[in-house]
Amino acid sequence: MTIRTRFAPSPTGHLHVGNIRTALHNWMFAKKNGGEFLLRLDDTDKERSKEEYVTAIRADLAWLGINPDSEERQSARFERYEERFEELKTAGRVYPAYETAQELDLKRKVQLGRGKPPTYDRGALDLTAAEIAAFEAEGRQAHWRFKLDHATPIEWTDLIRGDQNFDPALLSDPVIRREDGSWLYMLPSTIDDMDMGITHVVRGEDHVANTAVQIQMFQAFGASTPEFAHEALLVGTEGKLSKRLGSLGVGGFRERNIEPQSIVALLARIGTSDPVEPIADVMTLVEGFDFSRFGRAPARFDDEELAQLNQKIVHLLDYAEVSDRLPSAMSAEAWGVIRPNLHDMGEVERWWQVVTGPVAAAELAAEDSKFLGQARATLESLPWSDTIWKDWTGALKDGTGRKGKSLFMPLRQALTGLEHGPDMGALLPLIGRESALDRLTNASS
Ligand code: GLU
Repeated sequence: MTIRTRFAPSPTGHLHVGNIRTALHNWMFAKKNGGEFLLRLDDTDKERSKEEYVTAIRADLAWLGINPDSEERQSARFERYEERFEELKTAGRVYPAYETAQELDLKRKVQLGRGKPPTYDRGALDLTAAEIAAFEAEGRQAHWRFKLDHATPIEWTDLIRGDQNFDPALLSDPVIRREDGSWLYMLPSTIDDMDMGITHVVRGEDHVANTAVQIQMFQAFGASTPEFAHEALLVGTEGKLSKRLGSLGVGGFRERNIEPQSIVALLARIGTSDPVEPIADVMTLVEGFDFSRFGRAPARFDDEELAQLNQKIVHLLDYAEVSDRLPSAMSAEAWGVIRPNLHDMGEVERWWQVVTGPVAAAELAAEDSKFLGQARATLESLPWSDTIWKDWTGALKDGTGRKGKSLFMPLRQALTGLEHGPDMGALLPLIGRESALDRLTNASS
């Protein structure tokens, strides 16, 4: 059996970190099992679904390296939903209801007032043909509910949450279709999961109650149910569902120069018993992916942890992986020198500027400026080679008696305009003889 998972966003907005995580886990699980990962666009809501979000969802997934094996759109499947809906009608598993939103609200309030759970009372099942005709004459349109089977307990073994049990009698028959004929999420999703051969439904634990209902829908069609894995939700460092997380997406990560590998490495592991590690090779993460490692407690997303992980990941990136994002003249050698100094890729330009110049004028004490004049003369006299820094500082040490910081710091400041930075032994050959001599001239007196 081919493992098939799906990620089913509604294109009514951009992906945020929570659903990126869901997409990633679906993809990882499919990859690990040699299966397939489907992108399903839940675009039944014509008003709110926008083509620009469809494009953005595809682009964000591509940027993250989460590549779907296929794509489906619910808006292309209305005929199919109609067909299967008719089957449920014939089987008596859906029924029309005419209550208005206000009437339903009132019913709920009355139930709550009596200390009862606000479960739908199935009033619509008692309507007589005459009452229905009267509603229709009044111009009221029916909405449709799925009739749960109260005699069949709902049970499944969740791959993360373990054994789950629901008493269907305590659930409301869900509205599956509105008065205007449009579909709510519940039924189309089930039909798709059947038709598309989905073997594993991986989603947030906010869908647990939907799963209970959908299991009865699978059964109503005589279909087998897929496996389910409901993940604990993602929370911010403050431990709550935060608004900020709900709007944090790929756009925000890119602005902060976060690498896709860093997001993947973090989201693959938070909320699991495995440590977050700087693993740039996604297949290593895929190998270790296992629902049994997932905990029940919310997964904590920490920006600071992401920034630190990102720094470590940047230090692992090969020239070939980043060359298209580097200044065109920057060599593999220069990347190797600059890379260990980066917090993120946004700092490359700054360090490249140190190589190519001009550099900021350093504030130097008079005696250091004098020393730099001598340093310049010494540099000019030495044969240029890859060991030039060692040769030069060795000669200066012997010639001036300076050592340690008093030897190295003025040289670094004159050559880079900074007090910290890349290893000078590697940097000086990149700066080159002419530039180095010019910078020393500018800094010496
Ligand atoms: N479109 C639904 C959502 O975004 C899909 C849920 C599911 O995975 O079934 O919540």
